Amino acid sequence: MKEKRNQNHSIPKDHPRYKSLKYRHKIIEGMKNLAVAEAGLIAHGRGECFDYILGERTNETAKKAMKAAVAALLLAKSPIISVNGNTAALVPKELVELSEIVNAPLEINLFYYKEGRIEAIKKILEEAGATDIRGTLKEKLVEIEGLESNRRFVQSIIDADLVMVPLEDGDRTETLKKRGKNVIAVDLNPISRTAIWADITIVDNIIRTLPEMIKIAKDLKSLEKEQLITILNNFDNKKNIIDTLELIKEYIEAQKENAFKILKS
Ligand code: ATP
Repeated sequence: MKEKRNQNHSIPKDHPRYKSLKYRHKIIEGMKNLAVAEAGLIAHGRGECFDYILGERTNETAKKAMKAAVAALLLAKSPIISVNGNTAALVPKELVELSEIVNAPLEINLFYYKEGRIEAIKKILEEAGATDIRGTLKEKLVEIEGLESNRRFVQSIIDADLVMVPLEDGDRTETLKKRGKNVIAVDLNPISRTAIWADITIVDNIIRTLPEMIKIAKDLKSLEKEQLITILNNFDNKKNIIDTLELIKEYIEAQKENAFKILKS
């Protein structure tokens, strides 16, 4: 008998979890074309879990961190946006756009190295319009001391004063900090080592963060240096993380009330 089951995984737009499923498929596609590591799927799942208890929306605390992050990027002398497989698979066009607006080149930097992965990520970024992609040529890479993982191989990150690290592992954030660099993290987990070590921690999904940062960057680009410094000085990362944890508590508390109402009605 012929297989009649639908092998086309297109997601109906009215599905209640349409967005979440759409991005899962992007990650799966990324894995098939080598850009995303197998472990990247698990990291994505961990992210989804935190996104759930944040209400799957960009909170005010995230917006504050994004504004400070954009100000920091515009003020930095040699900022870099570090790119891994997950980020490239999820938001390639947005990476390129933000990189151009704030003048921060993209550098591919991987925890899970595999032959062909860098080329796969480079291809995705080039198709999204990137023209200046660092970290792709072996002869240009140097090693950062104090780091065991493949993340230690860097190109321009070594001389950068500010590194934006979406979806990062804590070890590298710690190393970058110890080397005197300013770090912007995008991490849905507000208590990961990355989130705690970073100077500016954006607790939000990268798929919402980058479009929002692009908007903010367009607004802030015309500001004077002093105005950008004021934005940065008014931001308190530790307080912002604590406020985010409070928001999570409030959200879970509200869900506790709502959870069984539907069943009762
Ligand atoms: P750390 O070493 O900093 O404690 P970790 O071991 O959890 O963190 P990884 O396993 O490398 O680090 O996971 C990467 C992080 O990326 C996780 O904290 C996860 O919540 C986060 N993450 C995954 N997907 C997204 C996403 N789409 N947007 C933002 N953050 C994400």
